[in-house]
Amino acid sequence: MTGRPAVTWRNWAGNQQCAPARVEHPAGAAALADVVRSASRVKVVGSGHSFSDIAVVPDGGVQVVLDRHASLLSVDRPSGVVKAQAGMTIGALNRALAAVGLALPNLGDIAYQTISGAISTATHGTGVRFGGIATQVIGLEVVTADGSVVSCSADAEPELFACARVGLGALGVLSAVTLQCVPSFRLHAVAEPLRLGSVLKALDRHVEENDHFEFFYVPHTDWALTKRHNRTDAPATGMPRWKWAWEKVVMENVAFGAVCRVGRARPSLIPRLATALPSSGRREYVEPSHAVFATPRWVHFYEMEYSVPRAAAVEAVTRVRSLIDDRGLLVSVPIEVRFTAGDDIPLSTAYGGQRCYIAVHVYRGMEYEPYFRGVEEIMRSLDGRPHWGKLHFRTADDLAPVYPEWERFQAVRRKVDPEGKFANPYLDRVLG
Ligand SMILES: Cc1cc2nc3c(=O)[nH]c(=O)nc-3n(C[C@H](O)[C@H](O)[C@H](O)COP(=O)(O)OP(=O)(O)OC[C@H]3O[C@@H](n4cnc5c(N)ncnc54)[C@H](O)[C@@H]3O)c2cc1C
Repeated sequence: MTGRPAVTWRNWAGNQQCAPARVEHPAGAAALADVVRSASRVKVVGSGHSFSDIAVVPDGGVQVVLDRHASLLSVDRPSGVVKAQAGMTIGALNRALAAVGLALPNLGDIAYQTISGAISTATHGTGVRFGGIATQVIGLEVVTADGSVVSCSADAEPELFACARVGLGALGVLSAVTLQCVPSFRLHAVAEPLRLGSVLKALDRHVEENDHFEFFYVPHTDWALTKRHNRTDAPATGMPRWKWAWEKVVMENVAFGAVCRVGRARPSLIPRLATALPSSGRREYVEPSHAVFATPRWVHFYEMEYSVPRAAAVEAVTRVRSLIDDRGLLVSVPIEVRFTAGDDIPLSTAYGGQRCYIAVHVYRGMEYEPYFRGVEEIMRSLDGRPHWGKLHFRTADDLAPVYPEWERFQAVRRKVDPEGKFANPYLDRVLG
């Protein structure tokens, strides 16, 4: 039979799909290099947890899935240096590290992503003294367009290393990632609803005094659900399995999903449903870091996230709130606000200084464009940078000015992928 191949891939959110000409599952760097060498268009996909079309395979292209290239390669316990194959998920890495008394110093709020997919889009957590996951990378093995396997670090091929830590999948296929880990640690977690006004008034104090502070503003209310996570030597409280399941699965997923479904069916009820969210009360526990940072996510949504300079945080949140109220938008998913340290990675959303991240979401199947475009205009006026793996409407022309080292990245890209073997429509739009 001729014609287009059938759709065989969809992302987690269900808003992106593609029909690769061929799907390859190479095992080992040599097999991966063979696939890259023999294909004219290649797109590697991680766990498909990006909302943007960044992982979509272009027409006629080969999709590379690294599920057979997902093991821990080496661990040096005294130095904390760990090398993993690129397809390893963060969840698997967390478990393997915990078994040898190590951990990643900071994580985002899920662990389903592959380590290479996460760093490629500048995935981050929260904590103004901690950079995104890519800042924990000290070495990479990259398969470039001609099929060469290049090892790079701050000392070897430093330009490729500098850029490929947040490479958007544009500089080659990562085969292995070397990470600087830290000894295992526990976090004291406190989650409680507070009035948004009081959170914004004391924002600098919350951000400075806690290792990891974030909050979720609940639209249509005055409430913010805050989370404070701090390193502790206290023993784990050993939350009983039923309690963990009640809070993380039933309340944060099953009940929240039901609220979102009702809101989708009857949007006019959203403001009233929102008042139920802050009733969760105060919760406090001590658990190993990875169990606190990352939680299960069953409720599927669409998301856009912007980073703005930390100093613009209060203005950004206040203006997003006014946008929702003034335009009468009905928003059922809380707005997540986080903070990170700055870094020196050319296309990192945290390049050059501390950032505040503001993430807006709508429940799957609901219209997002008017809301996201309105928020994007606010973020654009605050020198915002969109998360590469989340929805946004920006193009290369208007992204270049917010990345001082844009041209440095482009020079490396021209060198390692002169024919655009790793390009796809998303990269054409955002990189040119
Ligand atoms: C429920 C949910 C929660 C999330 N939470 C957070 C969060 O807390 N913080 C945050 O910053 N983001 C978050 N994200 C976004 C997510 O972390 C990123 O989109 C991440 O890139 C997804 O990783 P992945 O393995 O699924 O990669 P994919 O989405 O499959 O791919 C992303 C990009 O990485 C490239 N890539 C993958 N593997 C390789 C490789 N081996 N070599 C070269 N390029 C490669 C792909 O080609 C593509 O360009 C969340 C997403 C979801 C759905």
